[in-house]
Amino acid sequence: MSASDQVDVADAAALLAAASDVTLLAHVNPDADALGSALALGLALQRRGATVRVSFGYPAEIPASLRSLDSAGLFVPATDVPPRSDLLVALDTGSVDRLGPLGDRVAAAPVSLVVDHHVSNTRYGSHNLVDDRAEATAVIVARLLDALAVEIDEPIARCLYAGVATDTVSFRFAKPETHRLAARLLEAGVDGAALIRGLMDSHPFAWLGMLAAVLGAARLEPDAAQGLGFVHAIVRQTDSAGVRSEEVESVIDVVRSTAEAEVAAVLKETPTGDWTVSLRAVGRLDVRSVAVRFGGGGHRLAAGFTGRGTADEVIAGIRDALATAPAAT
Ligand code: AMP
Ligand code: MN
Ligand code: MN
Repeated sequence: MSASDQVDVADAAALLAAASDVTLLAHVNPDADALGSALALGLALQRRGATVRVSFGYPAEIPASLRSLDSAGLFVPATDVPPRSDLLVALDTGSVDRLGPLGDRVAAAPVSLVVDHHVSNTRYGSHNLVDDRAEATAVIVARLLDALAVEIDEPIARCLYAGVATDTVSFRFAKPETHRLAARLLEAGVDGAALIRGLMDSHPFAWLGMLAAVLGAARLEPDAAQGLGFVHAIVRQTDSAGVRSEEVESVIDVVRSTAEAEVAAVLKETPTGDWTVSLRAVGRLDVRSVAVRFGGGGHRLAAGFTGRGTADEVIAGIRDALATAPAAT
């Protein structure tokens, strides 16, 4: 796709306004930004009279911590997504492979709109609304809703707030205008404290035991990452057996607080023996470049990829890539 397929908010809103049957897709293993963005836009289009459905490639159900976002029951499992719909919208998904088994729906749709904020977005839609300066895809969706003149009521606001809160790490990385958006969402009735606690601050007791085992075996390499420090931890299948994906995904947020390390990595073992890898940087090194080297992607300070081999081999690969990683600026 060429750069001419880039559309502005008004063009994208016109496409959305014209569609009567819309499939909205989030990336596989959706987070609150991907799913919240898809549900917020889905709710708005449903209010305008369109038939809508929201899905993602896997898992087959909405993760427990995100279920409260789907107040209208728009979610359908990937197996129930029709082969073709008038308009296909992919949200928070930087490349078509991140749609997993639903990637084929993009080419099958007469019109496809990509709404995203990843620097690495490959512009795989027939129309692409990509703003890599937006802290969350939900910020771009809020602009679309304003262009569509849809009222942002509490169910829509809840979805947007969840996306913004997650991608800005509870507003830490939010620009002033995004704080203003958050204020609007709170004024629409969102209970921010309860929503954030449910999304990222509440875990079953078994989480404590899992964290103890995983963090107890974490390793710090002060000389790695160009002398800025590299910390890593491994979540094996035996560690994650009794807990949800939410508990496993939370580990990186603890590991990345290590003061002696610019870069943090968490390797999460999959049932097939591969590794889902999360990378975070504080602000000096670009970890997206590391993820890209191994077929993944993301943002400068938060990226990921799927690793193959032993845990030691994957960590060695990251260590090597960090030695020459570019600065984050
Ligand atoms: P995570 O560590 O899963 O929270 O992901 C951090 C960032 O990296 C997010 O922006 C993801 O979209 C991106 N990301 C994670 N895994 C992959 C992957 N396998 N391919 C491309 N981007 C990824
Ligand atoms: Mn995401
Ligand atoms: Mn996002």
